[in-house]
Amino acid sequence: MVKTPPQTTGITEQPSTAVMGTYNRYPLTLVRGNGCWVRDHKGDRYLDAVAGIATCTLGHSNRAMRRALKDQLSRLQHVSNLYQIPEQEELARWLVNNSCADSVFFCNSGAEANEAAIKLARKHGHQRRGIERPIILTAAASFHGRTLAAVSATGQPRYHVGFEPMVEGFETFTYNDIQSFEQLLNRLEAHGPRVCAVLIEPLQGEGGVNPGDPDVFRAIRRHCDERNILLIFDEVQVGMGRSGRLWGYEQLNVQPDVITLAKGLGGGHAIGALLTSQHADLFAPGDHASTFGGNPFACRAGLTVARELERRQLLRNVSERGEQLSAGLHQLIQRFPQQLQDARGWGLLQGLVLREDCDLTAADVVKAALAQKLLLVPAGAKVVRMVPPLVIDRREVKALLSRLERTLEQLNA
Ligand code: PLP
Repeated sequence: MVKTPPQTTGITEQPSTAVMGTYNRYPLTLVRGNGCWVRDHKGDRYLDAVAGIATCTLGHSNRAMRRALKDQLSRLQHVSNLYQIPEQEELARWLVNNSCADSVFFCNSGAEANEAAIKLARKHGHQRRGIERPIILTAAASFHGRTLAAVSATGQPRYHVGFEPMVEGFETFTYNDIQSFEQLLNRLEAHGPRVCAVLIEPLQGEGGVNPGDPDVFRAIRRHCDERNILLIFDEVQVGMGRSGRLWGYEQLNVQPDVITLAKGLGGGHAIGALLTSQHADLFAPGDHASTFGGNPFACRAGLTVARELERRQLLRNVSERGEQLSAGLHQLIQRFPQQLQDARGWGLLQGLVLREDCDLTAADVVKAALAQKLLLVPAGAKVVRMVPPLVIDRREVKALLSRLERTLEQLNA
C-alpha cells in the first residue's frame, strides 16, 4: 500500500497529518520563549499567561534551568529505579522538608500521580478498613486526568462519554457543599465501612478556578479522621507555589494525608509525584512502579524549580502579582458589566468569570486575545484562566491586563 507521506514536522500553519487529532489547536506555532514571553515562527511576540498550562514555573528558557539541565544531560539522564538516584533522593527530601508529607513516589504526570493515589487508597481500604470493594469520594466538576481511573474519578461526565464502562469505585458529591458530602458518606456507610478515601482539589482548576471553602474542607477532614478515611489533595495544578503558598492545603489550613503533584514541579519537564504522610505510606516493594518516574533529569528540573522558588522568594512574588492581577480583573468587571461577572482564584491561578446570560464564551475571549498577542486558556465554558509563570513581574501583569482589556473592547465593539 502506498501511503501519502505525512508533512514533515516543523513550522507550518497546516494541521499535521501525522499527529493524532486529539487536540483542537490554535493556529499558532511557538518556537522560542524567554521568561513570560514566547515567539511564533513569524517572530511575533506573545505574553504567555498559560505557561504550558500552569507548568513553566520559572518561565521559558530560564537560565538556572538551562544550566542545571545542560549539566545533567552531560552527566546522566536515566538509569531506572533499579538503582539509587541521588537527584531523586534530594528532591524527595526537599518535598518532605517543605510539606506535611513524609515520603514521596515519583512518576511522570498528574494523571499518573492520581493513579498511584487511587491504588494507595484502595490498599488502605482493604488493609485498614476491611473493605472488599472500596469507594473513593470525588467532587462534581473536578478534574483528575485522562487515564482510565483518573478520568473515572473526574466528576465531569462529558469526559466519560464514549469510554464507558468507567472504572468502578467512585462516587461524587457537590464541591464546597458539606451537606452533599455528608449525605453521600452516610448513605454509603449506613451498613459499615465502604469508603477508603476522599480525592479532592484544594482549588478546582479545570472545573472553573473554584477555590475550596476552608470550613467545608475542615469538616471533611474531621469525617475522614473519625472513620480512618484517607484525605487526598490533588495539588497537580495548585501545588508548588502557584497559589502564593507552597501548597493549596496551606490556603485552607487543612492537612491532607496524601498529596498528588505534577505540572509546576518540573517547570516544564515531565514529572509527577505522590506524597504521603507516614500514616498513609502503605506501598510495599513491588506494589507500584514507573520506568521513567524520578529519573535524574526530571528530578534535576524539579530541584531547580525548588531552589529557585527559595532563592528568588517567588512565593512573595506570586502573592503580590496575584493581588495585582486580581485587582485589575475586578476593575475590568466594572468596565464590562454586561460580559463579566466575577474574578476568583489564588495567587497566579486566576479566573475571569463570564456572565451566564451573555453569549460570550471563554473560548471566544481566548481566541480574540491571540490578536492582542496574549495567551490565555479556558477553564470550562465561562471561565478564562490565567496561569502565567511565577516569575512574572509588575510590568508584565500590567501588560497582561491591558491586552485583556483591549481584547474585551474588541469583542464589545
Ligand atoms: N489533576 C489536576 C488538578 C489537573 O489540573 C490536571 C491537569 O490539568 C491533572 C490532574 C492531570 O495532569 P496531567 O495532564 O499531567 O496528567
